Amino acid sequence: MKTLAKSYPKEGIWMEQAERPQVGHNDVLIKIKKTAICGTDVHIYNWDEWSQNTIPVPMTVGHEFVGVIEEVGQEVQGFNIGDRVSGEGHITCGYCRNCRAGRRHLCRNTYGVGVDRPGAFAEYLSIPAVNAFKLPDDISDDMASIFDPFGNAVHTALSFDLVGEDVLITGAGPIGIMAAAVCRHVGARHVVITDVNEYRLDLAKQLGATKAVNVVDEDLEQVMSELGMTEGFDVGLEMSGVPSAVKSMLKVMNNGGKIAMLGIPPSDMAVDWNQVIFKGLHIKGIYGREMFETWYKMVSLLQSGLDISPIITHQFKVDEFQKGFDIMRSGQSGKVILEW
Ligand code: NAD
Ligand code: ZN
Repeated sequence: MKTLAKSYPKEGIWMEQAERPQVGHNDVLIKIKKTAICGTDVHIYNWDEWSQNTIPVPMTVGHEFVGVIEEVGQEVQGFNIGDRVSGEGHITCGYCRNCRAGRRHLCRNTYGVGVDRPGAFAEYLSIPAVNAFKLPDDISDDMASIFDPFGNAVHTALSFDLVGEDVLITGAGPIGIMAAAVCRHVGARHVVITDVNEYRLDLAKQLGATKAVNVVDEDLEQVMSELGMTEGFDVGLEMSGVPSAVKSMLKVMNNGGKIAMLGIPPSDMAVDWNQVIFKGLHIKGIYGREMFETWYKMVSLLQSGLDISPIITHQFKVDEFQKGFDIMRSGQSGKVILEW
């Protein structure tokens, strides 16, 4: 079968041929229809320090997908051949305390599809059936192919009560933009999003952000006063991983504000802890999505009228994957889909 793989320890992703994956007793084999390129795949493409320390070469990459079940292991219940599914790229152990308590997103022994084991950029993907998520007919293939990052946005955004609240999102990457749309949909008042990339700030406005602020030439406190915000933000969603963004967020939070941190800083990051302490801030780290509460909520949000479709800005046939990676790397895109 055709795959996209990290075949060599240097910049790039290559199209390769590989054996169809084995299907264990508890697994399902999924024929992939569409995949989406994640920021993580771009890190792997670039062969940055994190990738060099994490990815064994060769490795089939990718973890955002939609497809159809073609084979089910003999112990599998609840899934049938022909089911249209997306799925969780975090494979959890099932025996640690958190897994056993139903908090699989906090598993201590997580493996990543397309990171630690063969990924979804392939004609076929084998994953444990418990990781597959059956899709209702009214969820399009395009939407389903981005459930992984949409799930990051939903899990982060719904960490705190948003109704009537003023929300600051730092980082208008695809996840930050989808989070802005979710916040508005569930009833936040002002949703201010920051970035340094005009293309993405425009996209954020299209998806419902109240105000999209380019921090290169606009002042956040000025924007707050224009919006009539006299105290500070109630909720902060950190979705850039950029230390200066975190710093500016801490400064403009109201006392008692709540922050969810999704963005991954490149290394140790200095924090003005006095802001946290004297403001009585609550800070929550976010990893992945809740299995599978977030997945049900994604479906319900879309079924209740949330429209995030403009976040998909480009679609390519998989043979043109290089164009997809180039546009992702340029920053002039939302989500980029590859059709298999
Ligand atoms: P992305 O890299 O596309 O988005 C980050 C955005 O931050 C970019 O648009 C960039 O221009 C912007 N940015 C740069 N400097 C900024 C500044 N000073 N102020 C505000 N914004 C600035 O990434 P994404 O795919 O949308 O993901 C968002 C973040 O979440 C990334 O850091 C990613 O690594 C991380 N992530 C974490 C998890 C998790 O489970 N914790 C999962 C997926 C992604
Ligand atoms: Zn576990």
